[in-house]
Amino acid sequence: MKIKELGEFGLIERITRLLPPYSWEVVVGVGDDVAVLNTPQDHYLLLTCDIQVEGSHFLPDTPPRLLGRKAAAVNLSDIGAKGGEPLHFLASLALKPETPVDWVEEFYRGLREEAQTFGADIIGGNLSSTRGPQVLDIFLMGRVEKERLLLRRGARPGDVVMVTGELGNAHGGLLILTRDQLGEALPPEARKPLLDAFLTPTPRVKEGRAIASTGRATAMLDISDGLAQDLLHICQASEVGARIWADRIPISPALEKLARTLQVPSWPLALEGGEDYELCFTVPRTHAREVSQKVEKATGTRVTAIGEILASPRERILVTPQGEEIPLTPRGWNHFREEKK
Ligand SMILES: [Mg+2]
Repeated sequence: MKIKELGEFGLIERITRLLPPYSWEVVVGVGDDVAVLNTPQDHYLLLTCDIQVEGSHFLPDTPPRLLGRKAAAVNLSDIGAKGGEPLHFLASLALKPETPVDWVEEFYRGLREEAQTFGADIIGGNLSSTRGPQVLDIFLMGRVEKERLLLRRGARPGDVVMVTGELGNAHGGLLILTRDQLGEALPPEARKPLLDAFLTPTPRVKEGRAIASTGRATAMLDISDGLAQDLLHICQASEVGARIWADRIPISPALEKLARTLQVPSWPLALEGGEDYELCFTVPRTHAREVSQKVEKATGTRVTAIGEILASPRERILVTPQGEEIPLTPRGWNHFREEKK
């Protein structure tokens, strides 16, 4: 069997079966945004890594400084999604020998900028040469107070499904970069927020800390593969179902403009597009308003209720703007299976 026949998630399952049993200090291993390690103190350690491959995650002409910021941001996002604070980065890079030294320095400047914004540092790594596409693999360690840790598992029937910010902007940015003339068809005020969302996403570390500190949320992750795919990750880990309403998904005026230009509805772009790095979390209904108000007050970031958790894991429902109930299916970004459009 080839990897492309199995897909990313099938491959993870196969690999997991081969791993030796976890040692005692592993609280969470494979299957969440981060691995969680116990410590004798009042916090857990959080470990995550994320790879950026030229041609697959970034276009070869992407400015290296933006690339550095994004490579840091996607890892910061995973730590924030567990309610944690970021601490230390390691960076392993496979670089082509003809790459200008300036390029590498600019990449590190971007990495440093983003790390410092969130109070983290860069303390090591590894360099290698490659003849193939360049590969940037970034590792990040963080920590979280034990009582604040939020995982993909923990959502309960009746909980409200909430998201931060607006969804689909990064997908819009990718479309602008990859489709001829689409950018020119949009006014600059619509183009910029979409491109920014794709090139320099803002990791929701502050928001993750604020959500966790309410003590009310039951599960959380960051939306890296698209809302549909990632919400199903919560459902799977929590052994529950979900119903979401397409017309409640928060969508920016810029994405609405892009959708009108493409003559498509905007909500599928927001539902299926990856790389938003917003947070999706669940809260018992009685505390939903309290949590959204607290988080919006503490961070200035919008929080929107888009659906509810259902008891049956088989019930995964999307209510279209026309009121029709259709299956909520994972059409997010699954490496190896599909090509990004
Ligand atoms: Mg994640």
